[in-house]
Amino acid sequence: MRVVQKFGGTSVGNVDRIRKTADIVEASWKDGVQTAVVVSAMSGETNRLLGMANELSNRPQPRELDVLVSTGEQVSAALLSIELQNRDIPAYSYTGMQAGFRTDSQHSRARIRNVEAGKLLAHVEQGEVPILTGFQGVDEHGNITTLGRGGSDTSAVAIAIALKADGCDIYTDVDGVYSTDPRIAPSACKIDRISYEEMLEFASLGAKVLQSRSVELAMRYKMPIHLRSSFENIPGTIVTEEDETMERAEITGVAYNRDEAKITIRGIPDHPGIAARVFGPVAEAGINVDVIVQNISEEGHSDITFTVPRQDFQSALDIVRKSCEEMGGRKVSGDDTVAKVSIIGVGMRSHSGVAQKMFDTLAKEKINIEMITTSEIKITVVIDENQVDLAVRALHTAFDLDA
Ligand code: ADP
Ligand code: ASP
Ligand code: MG
Repeated sequence: MRVVQKFGGTSVGNVDRIRKTADIVEASWKDGVQTAVVVSAMSGETNRLLGMANELSNRPQPRELDVLVSTGEQVSAALLSIELQNRDIPAYSYTGMQAGFRTDSQHSRARIRNVEAGKLLAHVEQGEVPILTGFQGVDEHGNITTLGRGGSDTSAVAIAIALKADGCDIYTDVDGVYSTDPRIAPSACKIDRISYEEMLEFASLGAKVLQSRSVELAMRYKMPIHLRSSFENIPGTIVTEEDETMERAEITGVAYNRDEAKITIRGIPDHPGIAARVFGPVAEAGINVDVIVQNISEEGHSDITFTVPRQDFQSALDIVRKSCEEMGGRKVSGDDTVAKVSIIGVGMRSHSGVAQKMFDTLAKEKINIEMITTSEIKITVVIDENQVDLAVRALHTAFDLDA
């Protein structure tokens, strides 16, 4: 039996928590399980480091930021290793670079290309415990890269795949995936088993309990994830392939994301190629465009509205203003106080009226819907960010998800 255990920020948040985490690793190791460990930075540390950089500069270079924030994980890996060695457990800490995480060169959002896991494999086969820094790797030029916020989840799944582990256990401060963020809706209920597909929607739509890229990877390689608490030894949520034991309620859960901004470009001449003309330069700048709405054209002119991550709002706005001018468009406006709320579930495939119920529920709460987008297993609306909590709770209740 071989597992990868990943411990998030709160699980290594202070010396006492590191001892508790060492208890979990020790128990697995003593059971004869081949165990590799991935750690996050101590909770709050990544933000603290970024805060200092932003105090010094309003445009710190992404390369330097990656060197900076990757140190957080190095501290926790070394401390956990020290504690395990103190218990006579053969533990060895490694940075992402040392552990063979090769990535592309997109600083702060790098993607893993491959993991050269030979050294780590030798450790686990000899009953030793490698402790890896999550969230980071190295590009082909030897630069330190990081994988985006929450990226240690992805490091953990990637190493589990590279080591051909039987599973990846992700330890965090909640005891599973809930029907919505329990911090917003205390009545949220725990999901025992969830399909990769639904979990991927959940994560992509804002449930930060797992980084979406980690779920994508796990789905591709069928790596089971057990998301569980590092505070209590109880079963958590299994993320795996869809099967008959999974719930078929109308919806499985509600997700939200406040990191959104919306841009509208008005009065652009409506002819083939305008969408490509608007979105081409945005894509070239590495900005992810999400919800897109184009209005029916009137007198040969059309409007397009779309959302981007809030951190990219200013750059996207600059790009679109330039394109608008070049295309002879009328005007560009933007709003970075919007948010996305989504309902998710494979049950939508077999239940009708789900969209109607969502819109009715929001209308009763006097929440204005600015944009709508759907897929087979999700419906997303863009609303004012101040109404997120209200929307999440109302939808959670309307779809009978309250525990
Ligand atoms: P870690 O530092 O362990 O990676 P995170 O803060 O990244 O932990 O993720 C855990 C948090 O995710 C929880 O504390 C919870 O507030 C939040 N969360 C958001 N949506 C959900 C959900 N649907 N189920 C469980 N937790 C959720
Ligand atoms: N420390 C990083 C972050 O805060 C990565 C992680 O925790 O997964 O985003
Ligand atoms: Mg996380």
